[in-house]
Amino acid sequence: DRKSDPGGIAVIGLGRFGSHLAESLSALGREVLAIDRDAQQVQKWSSMLDQVAQADATDEGALRQLGLTDLPRVVVAIGASVEASVLTVLALVELGIPQIWARATSGQHAKILSSVGAHRVIFPEAETGERLAHLIISRTLDFV
Ligand code: ATP
Repeated sequence: DRKSDPGGIAVIGLGRFGSHLAESLSALGREVLAIDRDAQQVQKWSSMLDQVAQADATDEGALRQLGLTDLPRVVVAIGASVEASVLTVLALVELGIPQIWARATSGQHAKILSSVGAHRVIFPEAETGERLAHLIISRTLDFV
């Protein structure tokens, strides 16, 4: 019963970012529901993740059928298609998901996600680049 699990998380979009996120959450012991519209991605990840479902996440009814309304947190990891990402966030807002995290690929994308109702907007590439810059600088000092 997902309702009694406070840590249930859905990850939508199993590209490189989403699949690593889903695997890491799973390794941390969280119940993860991974969703992708691509049958091949679903097939590929179904042996590695507990719950993998095929659905178009822009379809509110499909998300409802998957039981998403019971989950406190959903991460939209779709990157390349701004339209799919925004429409998915909109569907999640309509479903009343309490914590919607969404991945942005540009400043404009981020603004749209926020105005549609995403609670947290993340920039994996920018954040990783920034962290790596700090790491490289601190490591460089080690060799001086
Ligand atoms: P990454 O950089 O993480 O590899 P990407 O930007 O290359 O991602 P995207 O096009 O963002 O790739 O797609 C990530 C995943 O999201 C893909 O597996 C794709 O099938 C899935 N996806 C795209 N649109 C939808 C949708 N409407 N519903 C469900 N899944 C979707």
